[in-house]
This record gives sequence, C-alpha cells and structure tokens, in this order.
Amino acid sequence: MISKKLEEAINHQINRELFSEYYYLSMASYFNSTGLSGFENFFLVQVEEERFHAMKMYRFLNERGGRVFLKEIEAPKTEFNSPLEVFELAYEHEKLVSSMINNLMDLAIRENDHAAKRHFDWFVEEQVEEEASMETTLNKLKLVKGEGHGLLMMDNELAQRVFTPSVK
Ligand code: MG
Repeated sequence: MISKKLEEAINHQINRELFSEYYYLSMASYFNSTGLSGFENFFLVQVEEERFHAMKMYRFLNERGGRVFLKEIEAPKTEFNSPLEVFELAYEHEKLVSSMINNLMDLAIRENDHAAKRHFDWFVEEQVEEEASMETTLNKLKLVKGEGHGLLMMDNELAQRVFTPSVK
C-alpha cells in the first residue's frame, strides 16, 4: 500500500504529464499553421510520449492500492513567435519536469518506498532523453538561425520521428 503523501504526489505528476501532452499538442498545432509538418510530427509524437508517461504513473498508483484523482488541466500557451521560441520553451519545460521527477524520488527515499524508487528510476532515465531531445533540436535550430533552407532540412528530418513505447 502506497503512502498518502506519495499518492498525492503521483496524482500531481499525472496532472503535469497530461498538461505536457496538452502543451505539446498546442505546439504541434502552431507548426501545423505554419506549414512545417515535420515539426508538427515531432510534437505529435511527443504528445504520445506524454500520454504514455501519465498512463505509466496511473498504472503504478493503481497497482499499489492508491487511487487516481484527476484535476483540472490549465490552458497551455497558444501563440508562438518562431520555431526557435517553441524549442526554447519545450527545453525549459522538460528541465522543469526533470526537477519534479527528482522531487518525487526524494519523497520515495524519505518514505522508504523501494517500489516507488524503482518506478521513478525509469522516469529519471527518461528525463535525460527528453531533455537531450529538446536541446539537440534547439541547438540545430540555432545553427540554422531558425530559418531558410536549414529549417526545411530539419523539417524533413523531424518528419521521420515515430513513437516507440518503452517495453520496460
Ligand atoms: Mg513527460
């Protein structure tokens, strides 16, 4: 049986993963409106990643005898000025999520909940990939100054991204 503190914290994290899904869907919609379908695809895959994160937390909490309580998800930002701005925000967002996962791990350690620690371990590793994915694309965008032929080459590259759920 999971502690009340961890139950509350995981419920909050489910809300934040679902907000991430909403935020990235808003970014996908922005790219759709600009005709950059590869960038749109990148964020549509990210949307699936975020749903996967939320569901992984959902399943764990239920397995441990906790209960999922869904709360309101606030509206995300809807207007963006450039692809560069989108990736700056996405990278900042993933760093924020990493700090949330670290806080969850700190709580699991304080509660001496080894199963929760193992569960959060997956997310610690996942966040390394999430930050790297956003930072790599942000850096490439900076190299091509967010425009021109370079931007279109990136759009072609990002069109190849597919969602591959982890089997772990
Ligand atoms: Mg996530």
